[in-house]
Amino acid sequence: MGFEPQTYSPEPDLLADRIILVTGAGSGIGRAAALSYAGHGARVILHGRTVSKLEQVYDEIVAAGGRRPSIAPLNLLKAQADAFYQLRDSIEDEFGQLDGLLHNAGILGERTPIEQYDINTWVEVIHVNLTVPFVLTQVLLPLLNKSGDASVVFTSSGVGRQGRAYWGAYAVSKFGTEGLAQVLADETAGAGRIRVNCVNPGRTRTAMRAAAYPAEDPNTLPQPEDIMAAYLYLMGPDSRGVTGQSLDARA
Ligand code: NDP
Repeated sequence: MGFEPQTYSPEPDLLADRIILVTGAGSGIGRAAALSYAGHGARVILHGRTVSKLEQVYDEIVAAGGRRPSIAPLNLLKAQADAFYQLRDSIEDEFGQLDGLLHNAGILGERTPIEQYDINTWVEVIHVNLTVPFVLTQVLLPLLNKSGDASVVFTSSGVGRQGRAYWGAYAVSKFGTEGLAQVLADETAGAGRIRVNCVNPGRTRTAMRAAAYPAEDPNTLPQPEDIMAAYLYLMGPDSRGVTGQSLDARA
């Protein structure tokens, strides 16, 4: 739909007054997205597993003059159903609605052949990367429907579109993510109140990338801050009417 990451130029107040939940906001791409959203006027709900990291991002947002965020700690591997409902209730009590949901948290698992892939690791990766985004979306849909212009963004990967050796459960979880986004986009297209898309960040300088490619020089990689155009575009009003798409964060 004409989006080009190099030329996209978001308005400074693109996300003014929008309530946006970012999962895995304490580090890596999620941290950059939370800072970028807050920098464009959003009230951000910072989800993550490690409270100290979330508090750091909180402080950075406030120091930069952003609207005061909320912190929502939850270990996605261990959380039971009631914890997701509690999160929904706390968002409803504080904000009454939700305008954006960035599913960013994820784990890599092992890089090993299917023949040797550890079964417990498989279950964990599928759970955190695919089942939790389904649960969180389902639980939060009533709050997203209250927005009238809500955006759900799932995080994909190149190996979620073309399978590659040794990417195991991670690749399969990202294929599933693309499928989940397409199904939900189709289900919500008629009402037109929620758009649902995927973003593939591409190779980015984070802890996950370093774990996947230990021999790589991180200085050759873009920083999370460098790939925010697609994250802003999909979350804000410029992508109204765009749904069921899977964008690349870099050309
Ligand atoms: P990081 O490993 O740097 O960050 C992952 C985030 O997810 C962290 O904030 C982490 O929290 C959080 N997280 C992991 N497990 C849990 C859990 N059990 N409960 C709650 N939070 C959890 O990864 P990236 O920033 O690189 O990746 C972000 C997204 O982008 C992922 O979905 C990834 O698959 C995708 N991606 C990344 C690419 C890259 O090159 N970096 C390329 C393609 C896709 P904590 O900090 O506390 O561990």
